[in-house]
Amino acid sequence: MLVCGVVQGVGFRPFVYRLATEEGLAGLIGNDTDGVTIEVEGPAERIDSFLVRLRSETPPLARIDSVAVRDLAATGETGFRIVASEVLGRVSTGIPADAATCADCLRELLDPADRRFRYPFLNCTNCGPRFTITRRIPYDRPQTSMAKFPMCADCQREYDDPLNRRFHAQPNACWVCGPRVWLVKVEENPRSVTGHDFSRAENALNSTRALAPEEKPGFVTGHDFSRAENALNSTRALAPEGCSLPGRADGERTLETPECLTNHERPDAIDQAIDMLLAGRIMAIKGIGGFHLSVDATNEAAVMRLRERKHRYGKPLAVMVRDVEAARKICELTVEEESLLTTAARPIVLARARQGNGIATGVAPGIPWLGIFLPYAPLQHLIFADARVHALVMTSANLSEEPIAIDNDEAQARLGGIADAFLMHDREILQRCDDSVAAVVDGAPQLIRRARGFVPLGVELPFEALPLLAVGGHLKNVFALARGRFAYQSQHLGDLENLTGLEFFKESLAHLMRTFEIEPEAIVHDLHPGYLSTSWAREWATERGLQLIAVQHHHAHVAGCMAEHGLTGPVIGLALDGTGYGTDGKIWGGEVLLARLDGFERFAYLEYVALPGGEAAIREPWRMALGHLNAAGFDVTSGEALGLLGATEQEARVLRRAVQRGVNAPLTSSLGRLFDAVAAVVLGRRVVDYEAQAAIELEGVAVDEPDDEPGYAMQWREGNWALREPSRLRAAPLWNALVEDLRAGVSKARISARFHAGVAEGFVQAAVLARAASGTSQVALSGGCMHNRRLARLLRAKLEAQGFAVYQHKNVSPGDGGLSYGQTVVGAAILRNPK
Ligand SMILES: [Zn+2]
Ligand SMILES: [Zn+2]
Repeated sequence: MLVCGVVQGVGFRPFVYRLATEEGLAGLIGNDTDGVTIEVEGPAERIDSFLVRLRSETPPLARIDSVAVRDLAATGETGFRIVASEVLGRVSTGIPADAATCADCLRELLDPADRRFRYPFLNCTNCGPRFTITRRIPYDRPQTSMAKFPMCADCQREYDDPLNRRFHAQPNACWVCGPRVWLVKVEENPRSVTGHDFSRAENALNSTRALAPEEKPGFVTGHDFSRAENALNSTRALAPEGCSLPGRADGERTLETPECLTNHERPDAIDQAIDMLLAGRIMAIKGIGGFHLSVDATNEAAVMRLRERKHRYGKPLAVMVRDVEAARKICELTVEEESLLTTAARPIVLARARQGNGIATGVAPGIPWLGIFLPYAPLQHLIFADARVHALVMTSANLSEEPIAIDNDEAQARLGGIADAFLMHDREILQRCDDSVAAVVDGAPQLIRRARGFVPLGVELPFEALPLLAVGGHLKNVFALARGRFAYQSQHLGDLENLTGLEFFKESLAHLMRTFEIEPEAIVHDLHPGYLSTSWAREWATERGLQLIAVQHHHAHVAGCMAEHGLTGPVIGLALDGTGYGTDGKIWGGEVLLARLDGFERFAYLEYVALPGGEAAIREPWRMALGHLNAAGFDVTSGEALGLLGATEQEARVLRRAVQRGVNAPLTSSLGRLFDAVAAVVLGRRVVDYEAQAAIELEGVAVDEPDDEPGYAMQWREGNWALREPSRLRAAPLWNALVEDLRAGVSKARISARFHAGVAEGFVQAAVLARAASGTSQVALSGGCMHNRRLARLLRAKLEAQGFAVYQHKNVSPGDGGLSYGQTVVGAAILRNPK
């Protein structure tokens, strides 16, 4: 039988071995190209029982998608064997996602009697790094960054024993043979660089050499020295610049020589790191997919120092806590949120923060939620094993939107101006991978950022696809490769705005193409001619002579949602979003589409409003508010309007003139921008520090308002669908009612709730009109605005009340992080039904 799904590198073969042995069956199991092949022989009822248990007792990280059973002639096998991939004549492909330390390993980690007591890299077939340490397929130790650590006899025995839970656990390691942790401090005081540091480093190296053999004979496997030498070299590499690190005005900072190597008897590095954290210092801690910058999350001053050094002011920071119990103390968690927190992927979960939870207010200013997650690497568990550690900020170690740092030297060079010390190790990270971010929206888990723990797991496609590449969008880029019934999305790559971003994109693409042996035959890109991803796609297609397919942004969003539910259309697609290039060259984002997988018609949209200043209006929501108030008939230079906008008369006049003349004031139907505009007026949020901040705060202020608040009415200008003329939803009446409420002193919370309800009701009316025109009552919800819990909840409830079947994303983000999945679907559908 052929078993497909996530069945390689997740303890599946030992599981089958045990199962077959228990059922008294003979035969074999081996990895296959698309899964595992199992041959069993024995009594029929035993085989039936085997098949049932195969599905009911599947190991935690494994996922069975299909089991294809075929009768074979009995061969008279006597025992059950696990065979090497080559025996079946096919190579295995696929790399599992990284998984959090399992309960068994955690027990060993904290058991003084265990040989891996406090070992920061323990793992087994049920847990540990996978994707981030793998260079190429097949997923075998020599192809991972564990290649340079030959296993000791004990580890090798576990690795070779089919009944051991470390059987073929590729990153298997222990104190004797595996990677180590050490600490490098950045000193505040200037010190001379005239060879003094070198000799200290050399002394440290010599003392390592001198000590190691006596301390533990097993240490002297050669790699200890090369590690120390590497560390020394990295110190050297930085030293010529005078050891003064860039980006700091408050005095020289020098990298101290590597010290405090952690080993079994002296877990100094971790203890010192903990002491520094508790003293309010900033630590760079090497993790699974990259470095984190960490501070004590209960220390207001430390959090502010981190923000200043990282130049990141408003954007919420993620907080790691020991376990679910600790998480419950700082957040109000639902059952769904708790199960999301504890999945093997261990995403950051956005949950409602408790009042007075002790977390510094600078961690997530202005919003009622906190991004929390649990330790997923043994090193993190060891830090939290110290009872004094309660909550740590753990944020991706980068400056603004740069890719996360992964390499020791790179981290020291890039983060030297931020971190006070580096807790490093010598297991190389080969794939950058940020933490994933998720939330429970309307009772169901929703991915906001798909990265560690989810990459490179495939997302199913509704039909077989030709090999193709979908390059994604502009912000929060994620690309996707399709082959057969699956689309493999890359990790979150950040904004594709510059060469650093593009390099990360190319590096990840090359890796995933190797990993899945996919040679694209077509490339799908966004319709926007100015995106870096678009120009790159064009060049690549020309170079390789590939077919190029442009897909409209919101069609991709809606098609992605359809494909997740196996819908082929037509459906009513509500694409409620920030920015996407439209087929008329305008900026779309409040769209009602009649969509099929391979095409769409625009049934209705939010009436166009000028975006004064173009891109600048995204960073400065007051500009968008001016555009909306002006369109709603307000005199934007009146005293009241200036008060609402927080603008001077001069500013308002300049922008109004730009809008009137259509100069640098592109037209947009974006719902995201309407949220921005309302937040600017209601909350006085004139400028934002991060994308969607205004909209998130507007949702946040209404968090305790009931859902049944009646909405501000919007107004439909019905088109003539027989002539394919779209209807338009006008926001003007909404603005009039909203300003009335502000005048009457209605609370911000209530105004926000009424606004959310009004938007939902407006689009539900659109769906009613679309149903009358098209006959379909299936509605697919997508776009970045679907991250808004209140809006998602209200839309579903109000649509269902009108008799619609409502579909939302499941495994793919509704925002731009999910765009490439939708592009894949549209591209594959077009290639399948060429016009
Ligand atoms: Zn484990
Ligand atoms: Zn070992």
